[in-house]
Amino acid sequence: MSTLKIENLNKTYSNGVKALDNVSIEISNGMFGLLGPNGAGKSSLMRTLATLQEADSGTAYLDDINILENPEELRRVLGYLPQEFGVYPRITAEQLLDHMCVLKGFTQKKERKEMVHYLLNKVNLFEKKNKSVQGFSGGMKQRVGIAQALIGNPKLIIVDEPTAGLDPGERNRFYNLLAEVGQDVIVILSTHIVDDVRELCTNMAIMNLGNIVFKGAPQTAIDELKGKVYQKIILRGELEEYGANYPIISNKMVGGQPLIHVFSENNPGNGFEHVAPNLEDVFFSKINTGNVIV
Ligand code: ADP
Repeated sequence: MSTLKIENLNKTYSNGVKALDNVSIEISNGMFGLLGPNGAGKSSLMRTLATLQEADSGTAYLDDINILENPEELRRVLGYLPQEFGVYPRITAEQLLDHMCVLKGFTQKKERKEMVHYLLNKVNLFEKKNKSVQGFSGGMKQRVGIAQALIGNPKLIIVDEPTAGLDPGERNRFYNLLAEVGQDVIVILSTHIVDDVRELCTNMAIMNLGNIVFKGAPQTAIDELKGKVYQKIILRGELEEYGANYPIISNKMVGGQPLIHVFSENNPGNGFEHVAPNLEDVFFSKINTGNVIV
């Protein structure tokens, strides 16, 4: 059992953007979802934990490894699937993984071969081991990405926006693979897609504008909203008026008309009906301050 403990991390870029604003979280084994809209600061946090960039202040420990002071030690137990794992040379899946093993410091050819075959089997690509990775589908490339992140039995695996660009079938296969991997290690899944977290994560944090605005179990957050979410289908032209009068959590098009969800302690009347809250309501209620999102 490992614990990742992040305390008071701050990062301001040279252009003045504060991407991490006193971020503190504690994460242990299992799948942890870091959910936030684009620009929330997720990648900044992931890159800091993956030792690819420095923080201005704060601490981060994986068990007794001081991540910010001993990055090399952390890298030995880290698996990282970056947002852009997109540059594929014209080599086979087996050659690519073998090369990654060399980079991770595995010098014995026989040991590498065993490891690469194990990983190819694990991500269900063994049959394709002699095919060029360039010709793989998005989902297959992501599975190669996961395989390379698993080299050397990491204690901490970071996956940054992994399902963007996958079709529903590929996404499902990827979920299953991550869920299996995530049983014995810490997996942090950074994403703006609510479904990713709902399907996979027992614990999560929601990030917005560099701040952690929620941490806990997805179900706890949903329970907190119980009895406080109402919905109504309105006309398109009414959106602004409703936005001015009700704390709108979200709006989406249903059959060409906006279906709005509003937050209210009591039934707002006026044709609104009560609806059971879901994780999307949680997400939008935490990141919106009652503004209409169009
Ligand atoms: P997310 O991964 O949640 O989309 P990021 O961590 O990429 O968020 O970005 C957080 C904020 O920091 C954004 O406003 C982004 O424009 C800004 N940002 C990210 N990287 C840099 C950088 N290298 N220099 C300046 N600003 C940056």
